[in-house]
Amino acid sequence: ANQILSGYGTTIFTVMSALAQEHGAVNLGQGFPDWEGPEEVRRVAADALMAGGNQYPPMAGIPELRRAVAEHDHRFYGIEVDPMREVIVTSGATEALAAALLGLLNPGDEVVLIEPLYDSYLPIVQLAGAVPKLVRVEPPHWQLPREALTAAFGPKTRMLLMNSPMNPTGKVFSDDDLTFLADLVKAHNAVVVCDEVHEHLVFDGRAHRPMMTLPGMRERSVRVGSAGKTFSLTGWKVGYLVADAPIAAALGRAHQFLTFTTAPNLQRAVAHGLTMDRSYFDGLAADLAAKRDLLSAGLRRVGFDVLAAEGTYFIGADIRPLVGDMDDVEFSRRLTVEAGVTCLPFSAFYQAGDIRNFVRFCFCKRESVLEEAVARLERFF
Ligand code: PMP
Ligand code: GLN
Repeated sequence: ANQILSGYGTTIFTVMSALAQEHGAVNLGQGFPDWEGPEEVRRVAADALMAGGNQYPPMAGIPELRRAVAEHDHRFYGIEVDPMREVIVTSGATEALAAALLGLLNPGDEVVLIEPLYDSYLPIVQLAGAVPKLVRVEPPHWQLPREALTAAFGPKTRMLLMNSPMNPTGKVFSDDDLTFLADLVKAHNAVVVCDEVHEHLVFDGRAHRPMMTLPGMRERSVRVGSAGKTFSLTGWKVGYLVADAPIAAALGRAHQFLTFTTAPNLQRAVAHGLTMDRSYFDGLAADLAAKRDLLSAGLRRVGFDVLAAEGTYFIGADIRPLVGDMDDVEFSRRLTVEAGVTCLPFSAFYQAGDIRNFVRFCFCKRESVLEEAVARLERFF
């Protein structure tokens, strides 16, 4: 077996969802909505499936979707994108990230990453033969450690891999954060791969700002998006990469050997989704903000110290007011088995260290489900 991958167990999302199912727990662990996604988008997929055209679509994605991605990026962010040379459709953001890393990195290149990390980042960096340089942000404020970041960049730095809005912290990087990181990337002649799958899940009047829109960053940035998050269709695994043409060509060379292409009817439907009225996108964020408020208030009543969530559909909570110094992995297991509610331990998103009193709850669930989770917790504590 591959030695790098042998060092990893089964991803925490699968482990905790299996445990939730076994114990009939309300699953606020793995992040997926419990609604079906916009009907008009699903209708386009169903009609396209039956209309035919079910053979291999073009390697970089159907033109209709590439154009929709370019138009979306112009409409929301004012970015000018050449749909035929600067957009690649992928099988989810997971494949987009793999294509970006495998397409751009050489053995020995250094990659700066900010912990807590989404689960697939580090294994792929390692499979590419690159050297991870980890810098961490910590609860409760998730502030960027500027000195540590400056020290992490060096002559071998090829890439910054980052995620804003950030899973699992709910942090939305400020303009100041982004400027600081962009300056480091430019000073070291590196590129940034910015995982922006939660771009439309930002709350309280905030706006997502792609790294690509910062001065001098257009030709140094790879933007990663996902229909899973934007349209609440996580099972579809339709993602997209946007990058300056020479970078996109490098990403395409990896993509052609990873999946080559993605289901054509789903691509057609996502193209439709991206052209929907702004009210759809605003409505999604407003609905999620209301769910965040409902779950936050409930968790506070139960006794958690609840952290802020500026974006994503995840919220962090300090477990110490309830259970003292109990380890977050043990807490998550016991909450599932004994209280019937599943969360995820924050420590799963760090390689090592002392962040082990925080858990992540997912709030993209119907109100009644969130209320049931809180009721179970109130009975338990
Ligand atoms: N990046 C982040 C930060 C995520 O939270 C997720 C998934 N939820 C992904 C990537 C993977 O997205 P996809 O399901 O489109 O592969
Ligand atoms: N992105 C989702 C989360 O963070 C889960 C992704 C997965 O299950 N692979 O919960």
